[in-house]
Amino acid sequence: MDDVDPRRLIPRTNDLLALPAVHEARKRLSERVIRDVIRKAQEQARRGELEPGRVGQSVVAALAARRATTLRPVLNATGVVVHTNLGRAPLSAQAIDALLAASGYVDVELDLAEGTRSRRGAGARAALLAACPAAEDALVVNNGAAALVLATTALAAGREVVVSRGELVEIGAGFRLPDLIESTGAVLHEVGATNRTHLHDYADALSPETGCVLKVHPSNFRVEGFTSAVPLRELSSLAAANGAPLVADLGSGLLAPDPCLPHEPDAATALADGADVVIASGDKLLGGPQAGLLLGRREIIARLARHPLARAVRADKLALAALEATVAGDPPPVVRSLHADGRDLRRRTEALAQALGVPLVPHDGRVGGGGAPGVPLAGWALRLPEGLAVLLRTGEPAVLPRVHDGSCLVDLRCVPEEDDERVLAAVRQALAALDDAPAGRAG
Ligand SMILES: *Cc1c(COP(=O)(O)O)cnc(C)c1O
Repeated sequence: MDDVDPRRLIPRTNDLLALPAVHEARKRLSERVIRDVIRKAQEQARRGELEPGRVGQSVVAALAARRATTLRPVLNATGVVVHTNLGRAPLSAQAIDALLAASGYVDVELDLAEGTRSRRGAGARAALLAACPAAEDALVVNNGAAALVLATTALAAGREVVVSRGELVEIGAGFRLPDLIESTGAVLHEVGATNRTHLHDYADALSPETGCVLKVHPSNFRVEGFTSAVPLRELSSLAAANGAPLVADLGSGLLAPDPCLPHEPDAATALADGADVVIASGDKLLGGPQAGLLLGRREIIARLARHPLARAVRADKLALAALEATVAGDPPPVVRSLHADGRDLRRRTEALAQALGVPLVPHDGRVGGGGAPGVPLAGWALRLPEGLAVLLRTGEPAVLPRVHDGSCLVDLRCVPEEDDERVLAAVRQALAALDDAPAGRAG
């Protein structure tokens, strides 16, 4: 007697497509995604990894778990404020509202009163100028790197960018400013030595071939010892005397000085010191969406805005909306986390430590995002077994702790206080799972 090939019992696509759960899922997911989920379950059954009778069930479960986006929110328990791998700056409530409002049709390039086209992103521009009155004009582009490419292309393509050797930095993931600048067709004219550059080095380099002078804040490292750099103020007199525009890439981009970060450059000071254009990122210390800010002299900003490349690097309406709301709204999470009060952090961490019966240790947070290297942000952390880290990362909600010196450290600096209970529940669940796991498994 022939056995029925169990694979013939695998439900057919049309039958699975007719399941009520599939009808429900169509409100959230594309037909292609749904068919993919179905095909995967059928293939599993064909390979003998799933009983044919369970294919329907498996499809229902997979569809329920499937979201249109695979990005997962993460509670940042590392103490690193601008965490690149977590998307840098979390947005403020105002920025999120603005983002939602702008997600439909929105007057980003329209004057509703006149019914005519208007300057794109006028609101974001006005907010930036109000927050940084030293700037005559502002232009917002896709990110800091795009701002640098636009400035060096418009001012120096086919000519020279004069820059100190000590400032040719790699900003992360292998991206090097010198490569970026040379990709624009500008020629790098390096001056000085790695540790020391003097005003006469710049003076010797300036010539009719100079397109611009560039000063880069080497945000992610420090040179210590026998060092010397030329302050912007001195460089600006020299550049002005030679008719060369002075571009200052601040990296992180505070608009005004922050007493917590005395060595971090800011746009207001750089402009007062004579920079013609400053470049900053929207999603580092400013605490907004990904954006590149160009602030400075009217005629230079106009020159950049007119360049054809400006269109290729323009900011989208969502970034413009969130940026304006970040600058005009109350302090965003990055600023709050940076300035978090030590006693508050201790009180919150202690409450969790007591509830969990685990130790509390002093722990320094960091600015992150390549900003203010070596500046410790004194705070506290829960000290947990190292093996907990993977369970926290893969739990619900996902929590990213810091793994250091054989411990899993949970720092609440970047966790909104209203989420402390969620962190507590996540750690509890992870501790329970660790207890259940065979010894060493999660280590
Ligand atoms: C981060 C950084 C950039 C690049 O900015 P993005 O917004 O990441 O593109 C450029 N220059 C410096 C000095 C930086 O620190």
